[in-house]
Amino acid sequence: MVASSVLGFPRIGANREVKKAVEAYWAGKISADELTKVAAEVKKASWTSVKAQGVDFIPSGEFSLYDHVLDHSAAFNVIPKRYQGLGLSPLDVYFAMGRGRQTEGVDVPASEMKKWFDSNYHFVVPEFSEETDFKLNFNKAVEEFKEAKALGITTRPVVLGPVSFLVLGKAAKEAKPGFQPISLLPKLLPLYKTLLADLKEAGAEWVQVDEPILVLDSAAGLEKEFTSAYTELAPVAPKILLTTYFARLDTNVNFVAKLPIAGLHIDLDRAPAQLEDVVKAIKDTKIVLSLGLVSGRNIWKTDFTAAIKLGQQAIETLGADRVIVATSSSLLHTPVTLASEKKLTEEQKDWFSFALEKAGEVTTIAAVLSGSQDAAVASALEANKASIAKRRAFEQNSDDTVRKRVAAITDDQLERRSPFSVRKEIQAKTLNLPKFPTTTIGSFPQTKEIRQARAKLGKGELTQEEYDEFIKKEIETVVRFQEKIGLDLLVHGEPERNDMVQYFGELLNGFVFTQNAWVQSYGSRYVRPPIIVSDVSRPTPMTVKWSAYAQSLTKQPMKGMLTGPVTILNWSFPRADVSREIQSKQLALALRDEVVDLENAGIHAIQVDEPAIREGLPLRRSDWDAYLKWAVDSFKLATAGVTDKLQTHSHFCYSDFDDIFPSIQRLDADVISIEASKADMKLLNTFKQYGYSNQIGPGVYDIHSPRVPGGQEIKDRLKSMLDILPDSLLFVNPDCGLKTRGWKETEASLVNLVEGAKWARENY
Ligand code: GLN
Ligand code: ZN
Repeated sequence: MVASSVLGFPRIGANREVKKAVEAYWAGKISADELTKVAAEVKKASWTSVKAQGVDFIPSGEFSLYDHVLDHSAAFNVIPKRYQGLGLSPLDVYFAMGRGRQTEGVDVPASEMKKWFDSNYHFVVPEFSEETDFKLNFNKAVEEFKEAKALGITTRPVVLGPVSFLVLGKAAKEAKPGFQPISLLPKLLPLYKTLLADLKEAGAEWVQVDEPILVLDSAAGLEKEFTSAYTELAPVAPKILLTTYFARLDTNVNFVAKLPIAGLHIDLDRAPAQLEDVVKAIKDTKIVLSLGLVSGRNIWKTDFTAAIKLGQQAIETLGADRVIVATSSSLLHTPVTLASEKKLTEEQKDWFSFALEKAGEVTTIAAVLSGSQDAAVASALEANKASIAKRRAFEQNSDDTVRKRVAAITDDQLERRSPFSVRKEIQAKTLNLPKFPTTTIGSFPQTKEIRQARAKLGKGELTQEEYDEFIKKEIETVVRFQEKIGLDLLVHGEPERNDMVQYFGELLNGFVFTQNAWVQSYGSRYVRPPIIVSDVSRPTPMTVKWSAYAQSLTKQPMKGMLTGPVTILNWSFPRADVSREIQSKQLALALRDEVVDLENAGIHAIQVDEPAIREGLPLRRSDWDAYLKWAVDSFKLATAGVTDKLQTHSHFCYSDFDDIFPSIQRLDADVISIEASKADMKLLNTFKQYGYSNQIGPGVYDIHSPRVPGGQEIKDRLKSMLDILPDSLLFVNPDCGLKTRGWKETEASLVNLVEGAKWARENY
């Protein structure tokens, strides 16, 4: 028999109950007990609904009030000193680590967050040092296993493996130079032993141990650590299912196959081609293979026919008893259920599968592979075939003009007419900016009034005309403000945008929006990504009206503002039937038309934001070049359709460029602005080292906090920048958009910024 399994379920609740409860707890509106009660209800709902779908291996222990990595830090007492001795309850220490805390007598910042592999989920980075005093403060896996058991549901508990837990962490400030968290493995293993032994004692037959770092290149150097860890844990633990996801094992399978584990999980959604190698590697062992056939990362219905084929391939060599059908990863990255979508058409609904529906998919695929004669299974298989056929037909009837246009892209279209040195002279005349031009990244405070006006438009309480009038006034306020304080290159402030991706998605063909398809981004922050469902095109200009209006208000140059193709793609659920490259190029062509239209409307500078280029990097280094080629080409395609007079800008919300620098250079944007206020000057040295010759605006202050940078502080920053960069290249700007800031600090900070630029003009 082929068993079915789910690696993890969304923990936000079908109606975002967890967000509401957690935030209410933070606001002091509900007690810890009430919070626990809500959590228990959400867990119960997940377990019972997954069980009702017929899943054999139901996960427990992966639920979290904030983040599962943070759960492990708290459980193993990996609590940085700054959060200790504050007189807080363990729960409040936990939240303080996640989000910081500012209450009477307590003022601690949040821990660092990092992206969870290549997903849009962020985990709280554990901090280790020689002093780390591991203790097993609680055993969440056992508690939740028992909690489910009490409801009559037997689960397979999930824990993050010891090697990944350490490797995903970082050295704490107090650690000695060169300290590597993995060096703590011998100290940590006894606690994992206790944890796993307790699970066995509690009656768990299996345990799912996640070691996602096994799909990274760096894991190749950790064979010794993996071997010692699992050799020590296996004898006391329940049967271990070692899970990997998001990419392929590659040669790491050679040592993984020798570990004393009972099962191995691989991601066949992301890396189907690895099946053959993995089967070969474990063939002569007793290891059970869990096939990640149902995507934990997208929202599309699984093509059963394709999945069954892969399943059969595994069964041929291993036999049905050694094969499990599973989700490719935890379903944490998918919305809870399609049942919550009331506005999608029946046709659209038929394309998708959210977490709960995916749980049903694994059971059907497993049943088919087990040779089930059940009528319900047969009809589910037929229904899936029909849905997939309808979806394929829809895809084929998608927009042919767009496809032809993508196929006809030439290298010529990617390049500006003249090199930067020539463009720079021409742009200096059209834009007439002073030395050290001051500008901002685009958005100005999204005030309560702006959000209310948008809500009213949505509810029909404002007409489109009334709303547009309101937006015009907002733009005028922002323009007059910038003129008043003496900024040079102005922006319109983006008051009309709900979100930098959704706004464009709603104006483009090829996107679908949901009402309730929330996925956790971090802590209590959830996002509702748009879904790309067909070929993307631009029915009409999207931003020209607003930018042209803003320009009409002032003699100073106005910067147009767009979100780049790679960012729109990375922050949406992409199609599964065509490559990301094609989707990115379709988006690029739509944006290219917009850029040209903006120029024709009298705009002389346009910024195309690409904050997500870096995060789209594949997990395996050997895949980087191919990605960077099409990602950079997409940006160039979007921006190179204009005359030399037009100054292109781009913005990146990060500052680690060292490893992708040549690609940043190849973008050939006239000006790039980057996040540099927190980083040291290392980054600017990289620019210098590579002989970067286009213009750069390293953020002169951090907009992520309400703190106002002092005038001297900004001058000092400019001075240290000018120690490295030639003065002709420097733009002066904050390090990101101002939408989350209030007006008060915005005004004070920008006044100081303008002051700093003036000072630089006098002194350089
Ligand atoms: N133009 C956008 C803004 O100012 C850029 C934000 C971003 O890249 N994250 O809000
Ligand atoms: Zn930014």
